[in-house]
Amino acid sequence: MIYLEMSRDEQHGGGTWGFTNCIWAPTEKRGERGSWPFWEKVLQVREGDVILHLRGKTPNAHFVGYSTASGNGFRTTKRPPDPGEWGYASAFYRADLAGFTPFYEPVNLDLIFHERGPELESYFDVNKNQRTGKANLFFVRQAGRLQCLNGAYLSDVDEELLRILFGESTGLKASASDYVIVSVKTGSQIANIRARLGQSRFSHEIKEQYGNQCCFPTCEISDPRFLIGSHIARWSDNEVLRGHMGNGLCLCLFHDKAFELGLFTLDEHLAVFVNPRERESESLVVQNLLKMEGRRINTTQMLPLPDALLEHWIRVDVDPIASNSRNNSGASWSSDPTNAKAAANLHSGVSLDHRITK
Ligand SMILES: [Zn+2]
Repeated sequence: MIYLEMSRDEQHGGGTWGFTNCIWAPTEKRGERGSWPFWEKVLQVREGDVILHLRGKTPNAHFVGYSTASGNGFRTTKRPPDPGEWGYASAFYRADLAGFTPFYEPVNLDLIFHERGPELESYFDVNKNQRTGKANLFFVRQAGRLQCLNGAYLSDVDEELLRILFGESTGLKASASDYVIVSVKTGSQIANIRARLGQSRFSHEIKEQYGNQCCFPTCEISDPRFLIGSHIARWSDNEVLRGHMGNGLCLCLFHDKAFELGLFTLDEHLAVFVNPRERESESLVVQNLLKMEGRRINTTQMLPLPDALLEHWIRVDVDPIASNSRNNSGASWSSDPTNAKAAANLHSGVSLDHRITK
């Protein structure tokens, strides 16, 4: 997800609570019961989410850059060293950030309101008229003009709003006015946000699909904090397979690392195949992997795509089919026409129109 932090003061908490270190908000209103959706939203933040930073007061409010949440939002009774007007609160919501990336050229909010007025107004109206799942937006349409909503500390941004605010993907101008608002260099930074967002959504969906369970045979890790929705073919290497659920595996941190390093791959039966160059290693990691060699991973309905596996074999330079047939002349897959076809296709890189079947 993308969130927008709108903060007017430079200090904002100070110390490790300061700007770009974290986002935080009080848990209750002063002298009143209840919180405020733009504060509670901090609790919804999940590791990997993108936080856009809007700083300063109009007409000098600028989008100055973005950060990534380094953990999930939480509630704490620890206090910012300089809570300012929020000092009355007995507890705070907080989410830690990392990797603050300043925009090459900060983007002026008033300019966006001016240039993208009609689009933002209709976006606002559509959202307002939604029965359920209304987004909490940082701006309102009031008395015929757009302005920031007071107190909208942390708000929702979806891909549509991102497009309206900053234009199309790579900063290439769709019209003359687009260029005025977002320079090409800043536009490419924003394209980066889009790509990151796609990756985190992918990871989330893969984990869900595998029921939040590492798919390595007999691995019992099911704590989502220790699971990764990994790509079989690397995100950057393959545009076609990029968002395809068949290009994902849900693995725990340990097995993800081993897969990423190519200590093991999966053969055409989706069974664990340890990298032959690693077999003699005394590493306990490899010894552990070897115990499960030949065992099939735990799959769901969407099986890993042969094309994706083939890319992994190429990248880590192993060939399970050739090795299996060398080690076992009567390899079961070769006598099974379906698997032989899969194997042939894997070798030629031709996409199978059906999935590998055991
Ligand atoms: Zn595992």
